[in-house]
Amino acid sequence: MSTFAALGVHKDYIKSIKEIGISKPSEIQEKAIPILLKSKTDFIGLAQTGTGKTAAFGLPVLHQIDAKSEHIQALILSPTRELVQQIKKQLFKFTKYVDERIFLEAVFGGEKIDRQMNNLKRTTHIVIATPGRLIDLIERGAVDISHVKTVILDEADEMLSMGFKQDLNRILKFTTKSDRKTWLFSATMPEEIKRIVKTYMDANAPRIEINKNTLVNANIRHQFTRTTLKTKVDDIVTFLEKRQSQRGIIFCRTKAGAQNLAKQLIEEGFSAAALEGDMQQKERDKVMRAFKNESLQYLISTDVSARGIDVKELEFVIHHQLPEQLEYYTHRSGRTARAGKSGTSLAFILPSEIEKIHQIQKELQIKFTEVTV
Ligand code: ADP
Ligand code: MG
Repeated sequence: MSTFAALGVHKDYIKSIKEIGISKPSEIQEKAIPILLKSKTDFIGLAQTGTGKTAAFGLPVLHQIDAKSEHIQALILSPTRELVQQIKKQLFKFTKYVDERIFLEAVFGGEKIDRQMNNLKRTTHIVIATPGRLIDLIERGAVDISHVKTVILDEADEMLSMGFKQDLNRILKFTTKSDRKTWLFSATMPEEIKRIVKTYMDANAPRIEINKNTLVNANIRHQFTRTTLKTKVDDIVTFLEKRQSQRGIIFCRTKAGAQNLAKQLIEEGFSAAALEGDMQQKERDKVMRAFKNESLQYLISTDVSARGIDVKELEFVIHHQLPEQLEYYTHRSGRTARAGKSGTSLAFILPSEIEKIHQIQKELQIKFTEVTV
């Protein structure tokens, strides 16, 4: 059995990660950390949702930082504002016991850019950013990435599909010059990512794939239930009432759909709130904070929360409607069954959608059971 010490992780980090329940390396950590600590290399890490990819890149990148220098030395890019904040928080926790402080800064859209520009005037070693805001800050001369040694892409395919393609290309064009290294971490590997890898990464970069043949985290129970347009909300209510102590996310396809359902559930007396991309960032932050600190029981969200978001002890994920893209089934359902726990992913389907279930089963090689709620 390997330990973080054996992988080369410094004792100060071992102490802090232990405090947040990370004491035995997960598979991706076991394989990625020694490579990233030892050699300067591009790197591709593929592992299922909830398997600790953040620490797999976070610990090695923290080890690389020269805290005496004032320069930004690493850049972490991720697709959503919530994920940027989450990564920063987790890395910040990792640094609790290090001797020399490592300064992290999260920058993302929707928050006042002036404030972020001011924050960046202080010493900053690692910038965690959404691509659009980063470009904005670079153009204003507020962030100097010329000393960056490592660029990390978390959930890169999502950044491409969100229209960050040009931004990401611009950043990578710049950062992959000279001897900078790019690390890419993801749970899925669609075509778009392959293109990034081909264009910007070393063809001989080490590539670690965990459970190559299981596309979806095996601790998830996949279920579907038949419903009708008319009774769907009532059926969801019935399901929630039966599981009163449990927490979960309900995914909707549209922003209006998420708002509507949240409203209906609140009227029924549930502790629920919507989170979608048209909301003010302040409001989004408030909802995510409440959900993470367990004062909110159900999050009703669009796919903006499908990627990377890590909330402890979610028993279930509900698909109010199945996602259009297959990969999203993997990411949505991966909000449950994290860190070795198990969980349920339940789709509410109309009779006409049974074919979609068959298709997901086939393409993701998983098995659904039909249930009645
Ligand atoms: P991923 O990015 O692979 O989806 P995260 O990095 O968000 O997963 O980690 C999922 C959860 O597992 C987090 O709450 C994290 O603190 C926890 N975790 C990470 N590594 C370990 C570990 N080795 N042992 C136990 N829990 C861990
Ligand atoms: Mg992640």
